[in-house]
Amino acid sequence: MASGAGGHSLSAPLVPSRLCTGCEKKLEITTGHWFFRDSKPTGYCRTCRAKIKTQHDGPYGWVPAEKVRPLLSELVSRCGGITATSEASGLSETAIREVVGRKRPRVQKKTVRLVVLALYERRKVDRMNGGNKNYLEARKKQAKLEDNINRLAGY
Ligand SMILES: [Zn+2]
Repeated sequence: MASGAGGHSLSAPLVPSRLCTGCEKKLEITTGHWFFRDSKPTGYCRTCRAKIKTQHDGPYGWVPAEKVRPLLSELVSRCGGITATSEASGLSETAIREVVGRKRPRVQKKTVRLVVLALYERRKVDRMNGGNKNYLEARKKQAKLEDNINRLAGY
């Protein structure tokens, strides 16, 4: 029911068409070709919108390396070395060294995904084995250090 739409009617005998801002194709105004907002078709056709979406949200973009470094560092601690991390994640040793060593300003989303997946797997394994000793030791030391800093700061 398109009542109260201000007199505009899409129920003309001939289906009206509209020019897409993206691909500049003239497409019939149907839900198959367009998305509608307030019962009006949006500027880009469905095909173009899908393309835009993959470009921005798809696994092809880049993210700052800062975002993945803590995860990758954890993975390296848990695996116990760069080579083991490379085997676990599928990333090259060079890539791992560069991200951890802050030599790379950004990484591909694909890389983030590989790190997250490998870390997820590794955490699961570590949980089943009662925790990676080295990693837990490192965490304990870090916690103690932070504790000392807090105490010094008077918290
Ligand atoms: Zn289009």
